[in-house]
Amino acid sequence: MARIIALVNQKGGVGKTTTAVNLAAYLARLGQKVLLVDIDPQANASAGFGVRMGDNDRHVYHVLFEPPTITDIIKPTDLSSLHILPAHPDLAGAAVELVGAEGREYKLQQALEIAIVNYDTILIDCPPSLGLLTINGLVAADEVLIPIQAEYYALEGLGQLLHTIHLIQTHLKPNLGICGALITMYDSRSRLGAAVIQEIKNHFPNKLFDTFIPRNVRLAEAPSYGQPIVVYDPLSRGAVAYEALARELLSRWENKDEVLLNNQT
Ligand code: ATP
Ligand code: MG
Repeated sequence: MARIIALVNQKGGVGKTTTAVNLAAYLARLGQKVLLVDIDPQANASAGFGVRMGDNDRHVYHVLFEPPTITDIIKPTDLSSLHILPAHPDLAGAAVELVGAEGREYKLQQALEIAIVNYDTILIDCPPSLGLLTINGLVAADEVLIPIQAEYYALEGLGQLLHTIHLIQTHLKPNLGICGALITMYDSRSRLGAAVIQEIKNHFPNKLFDTFIPRNVRLAEAPSYGQPIVVYDPLSRGAVAYEALARELLSRWENKDEVLLNNQT
């Protein structure tokens, strides 16, 4: 069964998609079978792999309303063990249509059920809002990964995000956990860094990833070639950081599994 991680932060432009694309690519390179689910109408994660949908192609919107079709809609990428469930601007309409739908918070979870056995990890790239699409992402997930841009206003909105996660744990998905908070676009020359990082640590005790993602122009260039950084420039600082993040995540999971196993025996 796949572990499912939603990348969430209602703040725009903090590195959710860059992290989803490149973490997915490195997990696949490290031997995992990975599905990247794009539930953002901006479809940036899809474009990040060079997947552009025509008006007649089916995409994640159709999955939300016709769950059995998911395996026909998932597409391969240039990395052999990485698949993508693409988005399309039409998905914006789904956010409205979902409002009146029965079980509207559970649509993505239901749709993913038949795909779960085919993957080790499923990453869900959420839009910059706490609306129904993001709620579908959170309810479908086991864990939340929160990318936080290292800047003065980094913590703005975090309280609201944590409150939403808490509401989902209380009403919709009791075992939703926090996978971790990730510092993105870090600039070691900026004096701001240390103070912001200390504040984030206070918000997420033991949950901040040791890996920081540096600000690196190669990461920003890669999507325009439809390539993850592992293909576009694997020696760049951004690439090294995302590989380290993938390794850190895998080793956290191994330790967790060991603890579970020891408790059972
Ligand atoms: P949205 O909320 O709109 O979905 P997002 O949180 O998914 O945005 P991204 O699209 O990943 O954020 O990043 C925003 C912009 O910053 C993009 O142009 C991206 O290429 C750039 N960017 C992301 N991470 C880095 C980085 N570490 N270094 C330099 N540029 C970056
Ligand atoms: Mg995005």
